[in-house]
Amino acid sequence: MTEKNFIKQFENIYIEKESFSSESAKRALEIFPKDRIHIIKDKSELKNISNMNAEQFNKSKKNLLLCSFKGKFFKRCPGVRPGLICCNYFVLNLGQHCEMDCSYCYLQSLINFPFVTIYTNIGDALNELSQIALEMKDHKLRIGTGEITDSLSLDDISLHSIQLLDYFTQHPNWTLEFKTKSANIKNFVNKKHSGNIIVSWSLNPQYIIEKEEHGTASLSERLNAARLCRDKGFPVAFHLDPVIYHKEWKESYSTMIQKITFLFKPEEVSHISLGALRFQPQQRHIMRERFGMKSLVTSGEYFKNKDGKLRYDSHLRQEMFRFIFSEFKNHNSEWNIFLCMENKENWLATTNNIPSKMEETKNLFDLKPVRHFTKRVY
Ligand code: SF4
Repeated sequence: MTEKNFIKQFENIYIEKESFSSESAKRALEIFPKDRIHIIKDKSELKNISNMNAEQFNKSKKNLLLCSFKGKFFKRCPGVRPGLICCNYFVLNLGQHCEMDCSYCYLQSLINFPFVTIYTNIGDALNELSQIALEMKDHKLRIGTGEITDSLSLDDISLHSIQLLDYFTQHPNWTLEFKTKSANIKNFVNKKHSGNIIVSWSLNPQYIIEKEEHGTASLSERLNAARLCRDKGFPVAFHLDPVIYHKEWKESYSTMIQKITFLFKPEEVSHISLGALRFQPQQRHIMRERFGMKSLVTSGEYFKNKDGKLRYDSHLRQEMFRFIFSEFKNHNSEWNIFLCMENKENWLATTNNIPSKMEETKNLFDLKPVRHFTKRVY
């Protein structure tokens, strides 16, 4: 999101006293009109709302909070679940909630704090990582910052990418992934790096972006930003996730894949992950309230899976995965493409293989670091 759009979007900006001298707070004070800024003693002054209704959730996207975080920043990816194949991923949470508005967003069933929040004490997060680095220095960790917020859309305020880039330059063994639906790369794209920062985009055909991914960058903007990062030597990655069924899905996804394969060579793209639409059953109600039945997401047919989430039936998922997988592989067998949060049956149906046995993915699915971390924490 651009500075102009931020100014329109956020009606109230709350800054915790303790965070007042942080870089993010200085930046917020610089760009937002003074009458929208509220200095608060502590974020406990602000109320949680469990089971937000549509109106409360919409409103939550207009409130920005800058505060420090006292818990653990670093954790395992939620993909580590019975029945799902995990790709050895960790998350570093530097904020929560999102000002963009995808109809399927899982935050609708997760968030109970009605503020888009930026954690201002990134120094504490990096200290926590340094402790872990001492214990796990031989493990090749993959860390992402885009689990409960977008990694880059608020970077113009948080300025987190600059410090993360500096930190990871000193930890070349580890990989950091920025995952975004924005085109917001300007804070770091011209900076020196060690080649271990992957900049990745969630991609969907423009038709889906317009119908379901409100307030996000267009497909062309995302691909152009990816080209700029590629040109500056950053590995880039794409997440075709969530793949959404619609009448002309084959044409839409095929056209998008043609664009990707025209603009990038397989060796320039670290990986492509593929995942089908999924969400918690309790989220259906708020999605219908907020987006009506015209949305492709609210009007779809879903079945409850072992992990409790609603998904398309397995045959449709397999058909969509096989189609997308072969569109890439028919173009060039070197595309490194894998399934995200999927079961063994769908892996076998799509690739005739499982990731730990495939040359291009076996390192990603090496679970040693996950086991080591689990032992350390529990
Ligand atoms: S960009 Fe991600 S976090 Fe933001 S609304 Fe969309 S799905 Fe949710």
